[in-house]
Amino acid sequence: MTAYKDLFNSNIRISLKTAINILSAYPASASTFIRLSEAMKRAEHRRSLNAACGLDVPPMMIVSTTDECNLACIGCYACERGKSADGLPAERVGEIMNEASELGVGIVLLAGGEPLLSRGWLDAMTRQAEMVGLVFTNGTLINETYRNWFAENRHIIPVLSLEGGEALTDSRRGDGVYAKAAAAMSGFRSAGVPFGVSVTVTSENINTVLTNEFVTENVDRGCRLFVFVEYVPVAEGTDTLLLTKVDKMRLSEFAAKANRRHGALFIAFPGDESQYGGCLAAGRGFIHISTGGDVEPCPFAPFSDISLREKPLKDALQSELLRVVRANHDKLTEGDGGCALWHNREWLTSLLSANK
Ligand code: SF4
Repeated sequence: MTAYKDLFNSNIRISLKTAINILSAYPASASTFIRLSEAMKRAEHRRSLNAACGLDVPPMMIVSTTDECNLACIGCYACERGKSADGLPAERVGEIMNEASELGVGIVLLAGGEPLLSRGWLDAMTRQAEMVGLVFTNGTLINETYRNWFAENRHIIPVLSLEGGEALTDSRRGDGVYAKAAAAMSGFRSAGVPFGVSVTVTSENINTVLTNEFVTENVDRGCRLFVFVEYVPVAEGTDTLLLTKVDKMRLSEFAAKANRRHGALFIAFPGDESQYGGCLAAGRGFIHISTGGDVEPCPFAPFSDISLREKPLKDALQSELLRVVRANHDKLTEGDGGCALWHNREWLTSLLSANK
């Protein structure tokens, strides 16, 4: 039952150890990550204490910090979701981060919309020096102020979104976006701030982004983390962009090989979930918090029966919807590409209506 937790915890420890080696060229970041790897062990211990009391606390929390964005990319998930409720007040955001840290959450992914447009979550992350923060940004708003902010907060890593090279990136994100992201990268490099790149892998860009050329070009720019996210066809009529089972295997294998080859950390999301006995959503490995504070199994499964506006995180983790999804993780087979829960969204809808 808990073997997957042990494996996931051990993979997190290995990734942190790899990060420390990779960051040895950035003394300020390396010392921060040495401290963080100790903090991660303490968080893991808190999670195991909670598990002993029947409370499943995930190591990771993914947050959609805002619906606002300065771009309008084709097929944007946040745009597809539509504007949800107003964002959470800064005070509540701070409380949620404290609750998460106390329960044993160790890694927070801040996404959006454009997370640089949401001060509340950024400020709250600044105060959580015992947690690893990843900020998934389109990179076009990065300036000296933000470079200095990341330089002063080494437990928070900027992760810039690309679709591939200039043509692929600008064709989806808009003219000039690639150049701005590349300028942000060279700014981080000159400032000695390690950063990452995030790529949504589709049938259209897989032959570009899963190459040593693409990786080497960005490693030479100073990129030290690659996050490959499998495309989920949330936008109607985009199933053609889906990865096949063969593509998914190729992605996992490429990431595994690249980890041994390029002096950077490679993460495929969701990657090979079969090693964990199925989908890690709903608190098995991570949860998602929507802009409005709803606790959801996954960013690609906008279904919720509980909100952090009213409820503490401890209660939300025990929501009926999350409990049932966890209990059925082995049934969440993915089929072709993307997200098992999105693939089974009718089932989730039926769960919600059954609980009404
Ligand atoms: S930058 Fe991100 S949030 Fe903004 S439009 Fe593009 S995909 Fe959507």
